[in-house]
This record gives sequence, C-alpha cells and structure tokens, in this order.
Amino acid sequence: MTTPRLETDLDAITHNTRSLANQLAHRGIGITGVAKATLGSPNVAAAMIRGGVRGMGDSRMENIARLRASTLQSSLTLIRSPMRSQAEWVVREADCSLNTEPRVLDALSAAAVRRRTVHAVVLMVELGDLREGVASEDAVEMASTVAKRPGLRLAGLGTNLACRSGVMPDQNKMDELSSLVEQVETRVGHGLTVVSGGNSANLDWALSTPDTGRINDLRIGESILLGTEPLHRRPLSGLRADAFTLVAEVIELKTKPAQPWGQTAQSAFGDLPWRPRTGSVRQAIIALGRQDADPEGLTPPVGMTVLSASSDHLVLDVGDHELAVGDDVAFGLNYSALLRAMTSPFVRSNDLGTAPHGATVAPKDPLFTKYAA
Ligand SMILES: *Cc1c(COP(=O)(O)O)cnc(C)c1O
Repeated sequence: MTTPRLETDLDAITHNTRSLANQLAHRGIGITGVAKATLGSPNVAAAMIRGGVRGMGDSRMENIARLRASTLQSSLTLIRSPMRSQAEWVVREADCSLNTEPRVLDALSAAAVRRRTVHAVVLMVELGDLREGVASEDAVEMASTVAKRPGLRLAGLGTNLACRSGVMPDQNKMDELSSLVEQVETRVGHGLTVVSGGNSANLDWALSTPDTGRINDLRIGESILLGTEPLHRRPLSGLRADAFTLVAEVIELKTKPAQPWGQTAQSAFGDLPWRPRTGSVRQAIIALGRQDADPEGLTPPVGMTVLSASSDHLVLDVGDHELAVGDDVAFGLNYSALLRAMTSPFVRSNDLGTAPHGATVAPKDPLFTKYAA
C-alpha cells in the first residue's frame, strides 16, 4: 500500500462520540460534531452521527458542501464567521452559521430572502479569549437586530474559548453566557434554542459542573477524534486515542555517530530538543517530512525516538527494534500533526470520503431545522 498514508479507525470515532454524547446527555448538552481536521470527511461525519451527535459543524464552506453532497442527512452549521463574499453559498448549503458582524448578517439576510429560505444564526459572544465574538455589553442589542432581519432566525448564542489565548471555560464565563441568553429572550420575546458553550476545551467544565445553566450544545472535534482534552492534552478516560495512524516507510537504516562532524551552523529547521550526546545511534530515515505532518506532533512506536525532521526526512533513533529498509513505521498524531497530514497532498488517506449508502441517516436536528419562508 502507498505511504505515507493516514489510517482512520471509524469505530474508534463512533466509540468516542457515543461515550461523550452519553455523558453530556445526562447534563442536558448535545454535541455538534466537528470533522474539520479531516477535511469534512463524510465517513468520519457518519461515524460521529452513529455515535449520537445531533448535527455537524465545520469551519470551511468546502467541507460543508462536501457533507451536503454526501448521503448524510444531518443539519450543518458553519462554525467560522461566514465570509461576506460567500453569503450565497452559506445560505444554500448550511442550515445555520455562527456570526458576529452586521455587514455579514445583512448579506446572509439578502441571500436568504433571494432563496426564499430562512437561515439560522447563532450570535457569538466574546468572553475573554479574544477571537470571534461581540462584546457582551452589545450582545442583547445585536441579537435583537438579528431577529429583525428578514430571512434570518436567531437560533441562539454561543462562545468560543481556549483556541486563541488558552482562556479556560469556567463557571463564571458559562454563567455569563446563560445570563445573556435570558436577557436576549426577554428582549426578543422568544426562547433561544441553541446555547453553544464552546469546544472540546469545555468538556472538563461540562462534565464536572453542578450547574450547566442554559448551555445545551458543545461543538466537539478534537476530543472525539483524538480522545484528548485540549487544555492540558490529557487522555480522556474511556476514550480511544488510536483513531488515526500515520504510516510511512523506512528508506535508510544505518548506525551513525550520535554527533555530527565538521563546523556546524543552523540546520534547515532547527533541531528537536533531544539528541544523544555520545556513542552511536541506530538511525532510520523515514520518507516523511514537514510537508506531510507536524513532526513535533508525531508519536513513534515505544522504544523509538524522533531525532529530527526536515521537509522530506524524519530521522528516528530506532534502538533495538527489528526493522529493515522498506518496512512501515506507524505513528500516533496530535491535532496539529493530524491537520497537516489530512491537508497534505502527499499523504494518502484510507478514508475515501463517501458515506456508506443509507447507513447513517441522522434525524434532522429539531434545533436547526431549516424551513421555507
Ligand atoms: C474548531 C472549532 C471547534 C471544535 O474545536 P475542538 O477543539 O476540535 O473541539 C469548535 N468551535 C469553533 C468555532 C471551532 O473553530
């Protein structure tokens, strides 16, 4: 089989989804599955749907369109603020989008009216991580203007923490969002159906808090795909961390001195932190480089160590492993390595991306149901 290749264990993804969906359901929270690290793979989305997500979200319209064109029947939410230039596309393919900008809302409204449809909007609130979101002082006013735009329906409020600045979701911040929901409801005169508290970084809070308040949705990618929580990158108990494996081939295997010789200056990309000081190393060169995956995010088999990586070569200390030129070596991946491997044209994915026909039809999510105007 060709290498480098990324192998996806869809059962692990279903298992992780089911475990988190069950735990969160006890707390009144549903999951919007996020498969953006897999280019919006319909197979991965199908695995999440089998595990119990109530809809799918993605940050890119290309991925939303790919999911829409598949056999999956899931609600689709664009989770990055829409580009104004893509308003028509957003309204055509997505049921809902997360928003912060009046000019974009105007464009979505006009596009929805032209298509005689209603597009659901979740207004994102800034709670301190300083990425997307309107100031909380402005949220009630902005929310009331969303509700007034023709072709748009104010579905709810959301926030995103941790991604830019590492700000942790905590009780105060979630209480603030819940309180804003109540103020908005009073102002607009109807209940909000979606209160999307955040991403995988919210799981610690969501699974331990005595009070989830009004939060009824989390947008989860990393924890389902990798079985880790992103605040401390710890494994989540009961979840599988082996859904993805990157397989690449040994192209040189030799024992070499641990230390280079000659005058040294900078190497192509700087060095990874560890290298043996003396003696010799049984080193393998793997046909895998920075163009294929983020080497800092690769976990080699136990007993092997990544020594360095350049564009096209990964150097491993392979210890006493039985290994020969032409053999495959399998690596675990963190989120960054997964993202790069999925988007690299050099890495073949064994997930061919067409959902098994009819296998996985999610009920249309009542929260996001699209209806004609
Ligand atoms: C990527 C993303 C998510 C999912 O984040 P994970 O850490 O993978 O769970 C949720 N919300 C937004 C806005 C995102 O961009």
